Amino acid sequence: MPELPEVERARALIERRALGRRIAAVDDTDTYVCRPHAPGEIAGVLTGLTFTAAHRRGKTMWLQTDGGPVLGLHLGMAGRIVVDGESEGDPPRGTATNDVWDRFTVEFEDGGRLVLRDKRRLGRAVLDPDLTRLGPDAAEVGRDEFRARAGHGTAPLKARIMDQAVIAGVGNLLADEALWRARLDPTRAAGSLSGDELDVLRREIRAATRRAIRRGGVHTGDLVPHRFRGGSCPRCGAELRRATVGGRTTYWCPVEQA
Ligand SMILES: [Zn+2]
Repeated sequence: MPELPEVERARALIERRALGRRIAAVDDTDTYVCRPHAPGEIAGVLTGLTFTAAHRRGKTMWLQTDGGPVLGLHLGMAGRIVVDGESEGDPPRGTATNDVWDRFTVEFEDGGRLVLRDKRRLGRAVLDPDLTRLGPDAAEVGRDEFRARAGHGTAPLKARIMDQAVIAGVGNLLADEALWRARLDPTRAAGSLSGDELDVLRREIRAATRRAIRRGGVHTGDLVPHRFRGGSCPRCGAELRRATVGGRTTYWCPVEQA
């Protein structure tokens, strides 16, 4: 599933390859991916414009246009961005071919295209997305803001940091990786952490996020390859514990994260 690092790589791909190219046509006929817009509505306002900037907060991207509305893009559970056949993390395939999983396509006047390719069909393309319910980005959140947002309530710590309204961009794998790096028990009540513990957690969320962006995705984490039944802690060798926390399968070291 795309988490913040994958979305950041998609954003960087758009920034590198799709800005400044005039839009000739838009295929917005998938009414589920493009809800609540009717077919032709997004095409009608974007055709003739160019994208001027690509932004991201958490797992939400939005593209500015020269004078028109903002286009929001979300990769959902399995989506990816493809520009002229190049996808984030994959080498260019050379030609810009159609794919049966293409859910939303922007064609440029020069013949190239930007595609939301999504097998599960849970991605979104929407005009003027509502960003008010998103917390600050997990890779950028400041110390005082993190303390105030994450450090209260009786919810398990892991559920708290995965709440996109608290901080945006921490998914299941990134949460396990950051909590393991911070040596914090994912089941502890969020409100039980000291200020120092919250500072360590913030630092490790940012570090894990930035490292995953650099290395190519959340699968490159140190704990992630050990997240299987019987897997052991790559730091101390103890067998990892496995349980459902905040509705998600969670692995942690019972010795160091206690
Ligand atoms: Zn350990």
